[in-house]
Amino acid sequence: MPQTKFIFDLDGTLYRYKGGPTFATSEFYADIKRNIFAFLERELAVPSEQVPETYDHMKREYNGHVSLAVEKEFGVDRMRYFAATWRVPPEKYIEPNDDARTVLSALAGRCAVLTEAPRVWAEAALRFLNAYEFVEDVLFTGELDVRKPSVEAFRQVGGALGVPFESIYSVGDQEESDIVLARAVGMKTIRVGDGETSADFSVNNVRAVLNLSL
Ligand SMILES: [Mg+2]
Repeated sequence: MPQTKFIFDLDGTLYRYKGGPTFATSEFYADIKRNIFAFLERELAVPSEQVPETYDHMKREYNGHVSLAVEKEFGVDRMRYFAATWRVPPEKYIEPNDDARTVLSALAGRCAVLTEAPRVWAEAALRFLNAYEFVEDVLFTGELDVRKPSVEAFRQVGGALGVPFESIYSVGDQEESDIVLARAVGMKTIRVGDGETSADFSVNNVRAVLNLSL
């Protein structure tokens, strides 16, 4: 029988934000948004009074992917955009804890991380949690063309894990992007956090994944 493998979501799963249960309500999101507004004004020469409207337009037209709008409409490389907006200090937003290190070290070689966040943030967050070394070669982030949330992203990461999809568990806190999309390609699922879920398993904290008999 093929070995069981895992695809972990990053934020809300391997750590939680201080002060806000979700990305949208976190200080982290507020700071990133402030950086994006400054970037639009400074680097893309959007007049300051048009910045909020331009940002909303980009999000709407590009399905939430502002980096793609920056590239296509302004000809500015997405990596420059990410470096200018997402390079923020993890210690400001994440409470130090051993969860990510405990889980990823125990499952090293049997897991990958798939996140919508760009690598500049994902790497900083995982380094802060002393867990980067376990996933640096299997860290799939949000500046790639195939990215979360999409079934294609799960297909690609599943392919990289090299076992049949039914031997892979997607572990995450978001019902749609971590559970529903993963199941659509035939993976099994573990929902982290509380609340209704259609996942195969539900755990309060990501550490509990290690105690499941899978
Ligand atoms: Mg999440």
